[in-house]
Amino acid sequence: MNEQNHPKNDNLKEIQTTKLIDILNISEIQRFQDIFANTHGVASIITNTDGTPITQPTNFTRLCKTIIRETEKGCANCFHSDAIIGSYNPTGVIVQPCLSGGLWDAGVSITVGGKHIANWLIGQVRNEDVDIEKMMQYADEIGADKTEYKAAFYEVPVMSKEQFQNIADLLYYYANELSERAFQNIELKKQLEENERITALLLEREENLRTTLQSIGDGVISTDKNGSIVNMNPIAEHLCGWKLADAIGLPLSDVFNIINSETRETVSNPVKKVLQSGKIIGLANHTVLKSKDGSEYQISDSAAPIKNKQGEILGVILVFSDVTEKYNVEKALIESEMIYHALFETSNDVNMLIADGLFVDCNRAALTLFDCDRDQIIGSPPAKFSPRIQPNGHTSEEEAQKRISLALKGESQFFEWEHCRLDGTVFAAEVRLHSVSLGGKPHLQVIIKNVSEYKRSEQTISMLAHAIRSISECVSITDMDDNIIFVNNAFLNTYKYEENELLGNNISIIRSPNNPLEIVTEILPQTIQGGWNGELLNIKKDGTEFPVSISTSVIRDEKGVPVALIGITNNITIRKQTELLLQEKNNEIAAQNTILNQTNEELLIAKDKAQESDRLKSAFLANMSHEIRTPMNGILGFSELLKEPGLSGEKQQAYIEIIEKSGARLLNIINDIIDISKIEAGLMTLNIMESNINDQLEYIYTFFKPEVERKNIEFSCQCGLPKNTSTINSDSEKIYSILTNLVKNSIKYTEKGAIEFGYKLNSNIKPFVLEFYIKDTGIGIPKDRQTAIFERFIQADITDIMARQGAGLGLAITKAYIEMLGGKIWLESEEGVGSTFYFTLPYK
Ligand code: ADP
Repeated sequence: MNEQNHPKNDNLKEIQTTKLIDILNISEIQRFQDIFANTHGVASIITNTDGTPITQPTNFTRLCKTIIRETEKGCANCFHSDAIIGSYNPTGVIVQPCLSGGLWDAGVSITVGGKHIANWLIGQVRNEDVDIEKMMQYADEIGADKTEYKAAFYEVPVMSKEQFQNIADLLYYYANELSERAFQNIELKKQLEENERITALLLEREENLRTTLQSIGDGVISTDKNGSIVNMNPIAEHLCGWKLADAIGLPLSDVFNIINSETRETVSNPVKKVLQSGKIIGLANHTVLKSKDGSEYQISDSAAPIKNKQGEILGVILVFSDVTEKYNVEKALIESEMIYHALFETSNDVNMLIADGLFVDCNRAALTLFDCDRDQIIGSPPAKFSPRIQPNGHTSEEEAQKRISLALKGESQFFEWEHCRLDGTVFAAEVRLHSVSLGGKPHLQVIIKNVSEYKRSEQTISMLAHAIRSISECVSITDMDDNIIFVNNAFLNTYKYEENELLGNNISIIRSPNNPLEIVTEILPQTIQGGWNGELLNIKKDGTEFPVSISTSVIRDEKGVPVALIGITNNITIRKQTELLLQEKNNEIAAQNTILNQTNEELLIAKDKAQESDRLKSAFLANMSHEIRTPMNGILGFSELLKEPGLSGEKQQAYIEIIEKSGARLLNIINDIIDISKIEAGLMTLNIMESNINDQLEYIYTFFKPEVERKNIEFSCQCGLPKNTSTINSDSEKIYSILTNLVKNSIKYTEKGAIEFGYKLNSNIKPFVLEFYIKDTGIGIPKDRQTAIFERFIQADITDIMARQGAGLGLAITKAYIEMLGGKIWLESEEGVGSTFYFTLPYK
């Protein structure tokens, strides 16, 4: 056996269990054995270490093969002998007679890595040393046929001991070769197996890596050393909006487009930096990846170089993840922290944090309360700002420690005390202690509320509440849904309820259903607008209904929002009864007054009438004295002149004409006075007959035409109906008098222009009427006189009396006639422009 065949330790275990057939091809071994045996004229076999054959025997002698081994004992002895001869002998070959038949045999061990795995045996030769006698004895011993045995013995080849030794030595050499080859085979097999294992492992890892890349939540892009994209996983494809197939080979910046979320400026390509520096690079915060489709993702990423064993950069691997949600959460967290800090800072209550027995933070309210800077508080022990013993004695050192340790154990503490500042001033305080964990460290949060003001208000409120409770008016306070939240003692006494029967109930519990709905529904809106005062019917618990006077008002919160309503009610039963009595009395008085008033009115009317008569009488006298005296004087004066002797005929004629005219004027006045007197006395009668209006108009026109023409005024008359249909049943004398009077007036009060009169049928009025008009362009009548002129003795302009002559009776008579005939009269007139008088008469 050679030294180089020593096994390596890691192969040892495997070799120990190896068999020759596992290592070498059995037919090859057989061939090897056959060649050796045939070349050297010896029998040969290769067996396991226990002597059992591995190969087919070569050149086995008949003696051994068919005689000795055919017997049971001989065969066993053969195997045993083979085992002995082939037993492990690393130093060389064993040459000795067979322990069975006694022929010469040689054996060598075949070892692999020092492990004896087989024996190679040769032999079955005889030489001079072989004793025939002993052989025959052995034939007996094993029970073989002696004749056959002997014959077979002589067939066994003869070989000198020396020659056999040489062959045996050669066998040793070959066996070593075989061992070496076997070892190499085993090594090769190992190597192959290892290669296979490594290949499988690599494939598995590659598959694992591929699956990992496909399934991890991060985007991964790898580039070559030029920064061109080589690979990207599905997340990277999704976030960049690029398919790998499209992106492959493109520069990273074409696909991985990143900007600063705050400045919106492009962020430099991380791969470039990695390629330049050869180091791992992380992205700054606030980096936004702009996808191809315009979507934006807040990302965090890092880029690392891919290096070979020599440290050369082969490319870059970029790993990034969508942290939009995380970023938003962080942002929200920061915002919420800012809000909480702002709340902490702006709280009106003192807020302080203690850690390890020292103040570590405080808000502005604390600085105000303790009247010092933040620096003076932070880092100081609480005792620095508060004397050990407080006025109400709550804060003895032990008490304070007890509460603090309870708070630190998680039992929040709340207590009231009077806090004494270091300068000696005292305020009422509410103190809360809570344990809070900040940054994993226990802190004590101290909240101090200065409640001095609140306490004072509480006192005031309690005083006011007491006052309200004890006043004699019924006071109720309700919420905005009309639910009772407070009632005073007078209320309970009046309505005969217990307090708990009313609180929480709707105020309608005390309202009578007999109140008018429109009043009840207006109470709330009017109260909110400023208050409501009125009277209602309320009911007591026993159902008794009684009247109350109510005044309501609204309570608003600090923002002005209405929060409650106050109602103050008084029982007004007695007042109502008194009012009722008074009302009755008043009614009586009123009735008496009415009677008195009526009497008064009648007296006043009588008085007015008397005064009017008086006034008319004066007007009449004033007018008459002028209107009667003037013609009278004319008559008397010119009658005197007629008496003068020697008067010429012309003069006589002129005087007589004047006397006639004056007489006619006087007669006119007397006629008018008689007419008006008759009218007033109710003695004026109507003489109704058929009368043709057109005829009457024509007559009047013809009668006045010469007088109008003398004044150089245009004069016209219009009939609104043909003559055959213009006959009506009426008093034609009165119609004549009406028209004459109105036309005469228009001539009297017109100096230039035109006078037109006429009528038309007005069928708009039922029954139909004839509407007459007398229109002139005269002096007109002032507006304020247009009604008065129809009264007796009234003239539009009193100063005009002298100029125009007239008693102021014409229109009064005209109006009376028109109304007697069933019509009415009115006028339109403007001073200096003219007047139109209208009147109607029933048609048919
Ligand atoms: P008199 O005899 O004074 O005319 P009337 O009763 O006829 O009395 O008229 C009363 C007054 O009405 C007249 O004095 C005159 O002032 C006024 N009056 C009547 N008709 C006209 C008219 N056509 N134009 C202007 N004034 C008129």
